[in-house]
Amino acid sequence: MQEQENLLTICPCGKSNNCYNSKAINFSQCFDCGLTKLPEGTDTETYPKLYKDFSIGNWFPYYLNTKDFTVFLDGTSKDDAKYVYIEFDENKKPIQSTKKEFERNNFYELLKFLNDETI
Ligand SMILES: [Zn+2]
Repeated sequence: MQEQENLLTICPCGKSNNCYNSKAINFSQCFDCGLTKLPEGTDTETYPKLYKDFSIGNWFPYYLNTKDFTVFLDGTSKDDAKYVYIEFDENKKPIQSTKKEFERNNFYELLKFLNDETI
C-alpha cells in the first residue's frame, strides 16, 4: 500500500489538527489559522510586528502578493488581527471596494474564496 502523500497533522498553533502537509512540494499550512512554514533561511527580519507576534518557530501568518491582489494579516494587535484580501488597480493602488476580511482562525474560508476568485 502506498503511503499517503498529503497529511493533515497538528498545527504548531496547538488549536488545529487541520494542518496540511505536502512533501511533494515541501509545503505546510494550517487551514484554521493560516500559519505557513517558511523555507529554511527565509529572512523574517523585516516582517511586520504582527507577523512576528503570531510566529511559532519558522511558521508565520500567510502572505501573498500578486500583480492583481494581495492577502495579508492586518490589525493593530493580536486581538483584532484579520486576514485581508484587496485588489490592485493598474497603478498598483489598492481598490478599497474590493477589500474583504476573513477571521484569522477561519483561514479555510479565505482559501476557498481565493480558489473561486483565481480560477
Ligand atoms: Zn494553526
